[in-house]
Amino acid sequence: AKELGRNQLAIYSSEMGTVEVRKMEIEQDLPLSMTRDQLFVEYQPKMDVKENRIIGVETLLRWEHPKFGVISPSEFIPIAEVSGVIAELTKWTLEEACSQCKQWQRQGIDLPVAVNLSVKLFQSINVSQFVHHILTKYQLDPKYLEVEVTESVIYSNQEAIYRQLHDIRTLGVRVSMDDFGTGYSSISLLDSLPIDTLKLDKSFVDHIEEENKQILIEGILFIADKLGLEVIAEGIETKRDEEIVKKLGCFVMQGYYYRQPVCAKELVEWIHQRRM
Ligand code: C2E
Ligand code: CA
Ligand code: CA
Ligand code: CA
Repeated sequence: AKELGRNQLAIYSSEMGTVEVRKMEIEQDLPLSMTRDQLFVEYQPKMDVKENRIIGVETLLRWEHPKFGVISPSEFIPIAEVSGVIAELTKWTLEEACSQCKQWQRQGIDLPVAVNLSVKLFQSINVSQFVHHILTKYQLDPKYLEVEVTESVIYSNQEAIYRQLHDIRTLGVRVSMDDFGTGYSSISLLDSLPIDTLKLDKSFVDHIEEENKQILIEGILFIADKLGLEVIAEGIETKRDEEIVKKLGCFVMQGYYYRQPVCAKELVEWIHQRRM
């Protein structure tokens, strides 16, 4: 048994080796991703289910790596945060989203875009200043931009981050709290946060058939309503998910049930199809 244990350990550590090597390659190649035209974004619609219409999109970053193929942001964003490239990546993404949004407007499509911002970004650049710069550069009305920050940003309890979020909202850009309900949530802080919207984490919807999850969602919706916060439910995958969430009183949703993230061209085709 001891021998087996040692063998298992050996296999385990050699697998770790592969993971580590991949991580190193990713870290090394990240700065090149921008200059070599390997980054692209996809957009996923946010739906108003009462009116059955698309009210905005979330911008999701993708990286087509020459060796590994398309890499998920869940893999390379944490690496970018540690290596420091996150600022450049986010600037690229914000520019892409804002320029696309402006282009849509020229085509008669009014579609606010949301961009994900990570905690590390707030620690490395003045985000509100950069957002202001981009809005000016693309002549974009701030009401067309939204930023999504995870709870950890908000509960990291740093005055400086609060102030930046406040400044971003002062510009007229909306702020959403992403993945709400996963880990760091503190209901008692909700009334003092510089945010407009709660994005109810997918994990609530994943177990939506459980009565307890429904009670929690109802409670969150009640509090959000009293505090003047909007709520959007993430991870809606089935008609049944939508029905239950709707019954609980939430009418803005995002998820594969409506559309997976797609490129700008496909999104526009989808919008036109729906209008017909
Ligand atoms: P997120 O911000 O929570 O984004 C939602 C993720 O859930 C996306 O994964 C989306 O494709 C996926 N999703 C949407 N609807 C459904 C559904 O119905 N079912 C399931 N199972 N998944 C769904 P994605 O694109 O792989 O992004 C993963 C995470 O990477 C994002 O989570 C976000 O935290 C981060 N990320 C993506 N783009 C950026 C970016 O430009 N900057 C930063 N800082 N983070 C980003
Ligand atoms: Ca998000
Ligand atoms: Ca989320
Ligand atoms: Ca998430």
